Amino acid sequence: MSERILLSPPHMSGNERKYIDYAFDSNWVAPLGPNVDSFEKEMADYIGVSDATAVSSGTAGIHLALELLEVKKDDLVFCSSLTFIASANPILYLKAQPVFIDSEPETWNMSPTALRKALEDAEKNNKLPKAIIVVNLYGQSADMNEILTICEQYNVPIIEDAAESLGAEYYGKKSGSFGTIGIFSFNGNKIITTSGGGMMVSNDSYYMEKAKFLATQARDKAIHYQHSHVGYNYRLSNILAGVGRAQLEVLDSRIERRREIFNKYKGELTQINGIKFMPEPKDYYSTRWLTTLTLNPQLVRKNYMELIDLLNKENVEARPIWKPLHEQPLFKDNLYYPHSTDSFSNKVFDTGICLPSGSSLTNEQQDKVIDIIKTALT
Ligand SMILES: *Cc1c(COP(=O)(O)O)cnc(C)c1O
Repeated sequence: MSERILLSPPHMSGNERKYIDYAFDSNWVAPLGPNVDSFEKEMADYIGVSDATAVSSGTAGIHLALELLEVKKDDLVFCSSLTFIASANPILYLKAQPVFIDSEPETWNMSPTALRKALEDAEKNNKLPKAIIVVNLYGQSADMNEILTICEQYNVPIIEDAAESLGAEYYGKKSGSFGTIGIFSFNGNKIITTSGGGMMVSNDSYYMEKAKFLATQARDKAIHYQHSHVGYNYRLSNILAGVGRAQLEVLDSRIERRREIFNKYKGELTQINGIKFMPEPKDYYSTRWLTTLTLNPQLVRKNYMELIDLLNKENVEARPIWKPLHEQPLFKDNLYYPHSTDSFSNKVFDTGICLPSGSSLTNEQQDKVIDIIKTALT
């Protein structure tokens, strides 16, 4: 059997060992250290913000961001529904209550229409959310101008979950730089990886200073280990930050390659009636972290699950779109605001598929994936 073609495997640059050696040579084998300091600075520069805090995962970053915005028990937090569970789990860590917001067809990200409706209702009930978690899905920014305008009207801060959109742009500005706090992930399947890790970014140095404090057990400024606030052990290791530095050097070329992979899928498959790719509106620049498409069941010979099964039988990893969070058993009692009478995220989940999109995918591997799909659907 041929080697399995993966969805989005790690893709090392070759330079990682240089920075790992730097950590070993100086014996900075610990959380924090010079690689962490440099990685934070390099990320802040790349994103175009003043400050960054390296953390042990994207999830930890979202958790800390909610704490920084003083989310407490029974507070409301709005969150995109069409996303990975990690966007919302930290809301539950704080015993706050998520309210889920649908996506819009134009971007597959948070629907400004649904968000406006949810905020109107919240205001009527005298209970506005403490924060809104806006997710940038599959490498593409949400419509941040619209969303920021609405949130400013209600004075609600945004946590931008940019775990999947590192390097993407929206009207010439980098994704992750729009929220009060932005979050990135360096998990193994992301566009660049440290095997595990995350980054918080902000233009508010107070938040970043406090994030560093909370992430290192909230130790007061005293020699005798004094604590007056609950803290976490959430900082990134100096070795892993070294991996991140080398990965960041090649990020732009990784984005180019992912976009090239997307364009080839699109060129080869759009001729199949009923296939539609995730759109990229004008003035958006998606990294195409994952190539995603939907199959119109009225027009295509196989449904999305049949195609996924078929690809997997041929040793090709393909997956459904994220199951919307308002459909998760964990959140069965939480409120949900659809984009219109139709829930768009349900429609995408019921018809969508993610194709192998890693920057290390070879042309031959991609040809194989395309052939399987063409044979199955035409
Ligand atoms: C990967 C991911 C996260 C979590 O990041 P980790 O580093 O795995 O904790 C959060 N949100 C989204 C949308 C993600 O895809």
